[in-house]
Amino acid sequence: MKIIDGKVISQQVKDEVKQKTTQLKEKTGTEVCLAVILVGSDPASQVYVRNKKKACEYVGFKSLSYELPEETTQDELLALIDKLNKDDSVHGILVQMPVPEHIDEKTVIDAISPLKDVDGFHPMNVGALCIGEKGFVSCTPAGIIQLLKRSDIEISGKECVIVGRSNIVGKPMALLMLRENATVTVAHSRTADLKSVCKRADILIAAVGKPKMITEDYVKEGAVIIDVGINRNADTGKLCGDVDYENVAPKCSAITPVPGGVGPMTIAMLMNNCLESALRKAGE
Ligand code: NAP
Repeated sequence: MKIIDGKVISQQVKDEVKQKTTQLKEKTGTEVCLAVILVGSDPASQVYVRNKKKACEYVGFKSLSYELPEETTQDELLALIDKLNKDDSVHGILVQMPVPEHIDEKTVIDAISPLKDVDGFHPMNVGALCIGEKGFVSCTPAGIIQLLKRSDIEISGKECVIVGRSNIVGKPMALLMLRENATVTVAHSRTADLKSVCKRADILIAAVGKPKMITEDYVKEGAVIIDVGINRNADTGKLCGDVDYENVAPKCSAITPVPGGVGPMTIAMLMNNCLESALRKAGE
């Protein structure tokens, strides 16, 4: 059984981005720039934003940080997005979700220029993914493809079952696996007999948000298990995934741990998307 090490692979991706960022600057003078907007003071969001800024520093991007008060109006936020959309020196714009309740998430996502939507949430980018055109792909699913490819796991022709159909993980994951020529099933809370559906999988991707829900009896012998879940154990405060790692690991051929599996890939792919945006802008 192989443990797929997201820390090592995300480091490889970040190092590649760093190298290409230096090359782009030397060749064209471009300074890659990511604007990160946080509205309110949600502690988890503050940690995410801090980590994104740190990653920008590592790969050599300029990061613009806008930490706006909770009472910021939707119009004020949209005005800032509009300003950043028009700013030629900004290559990526990210609004940390969730936004406070008085702001409509969809309106915010729609307002970001699809050419700077490095989260890959804009309907234009989702549509591009759906019909196989170029565009930004949601970072977590894009990171999972990298984990599989860089671990030499064959995707083409394999049965892939994805549990979860959210717009940011499950659905784009299904489209990406389809693009990689897997045979894809998307399961969700209304799926009948989830266990037998999951047992068909050569590659099982759990993106549910239910601690240790996927036990050994959901898993075919020799399957590859990707655990997207990030759950905090209420008693111990420790992080755990959607997969019951200790029981499932002996049965599978490869598995991602939590933490240290899918998690670190998300920011690495965000950096990669932002670099892509700058390369595109520079005509590279
Ligand atoms: P979400 O929007 O809450 O979606 C959860 C999905 O799971 C839904 O499609 C839901 O089905 C399905 N589901 C819920 N209970 C189920 C059950 N008992 N059986 C089968 N399916 C069930 O969550 P998300 O945003 O996709 O995130 C999923 C997990 O991934 C969370 O733990 C989140 O923290 C984690 N996550 C990690 C990263 C990372 O960087 N590693 C990034 C994003 C998310 P219905 O559609 O039928 O309700």
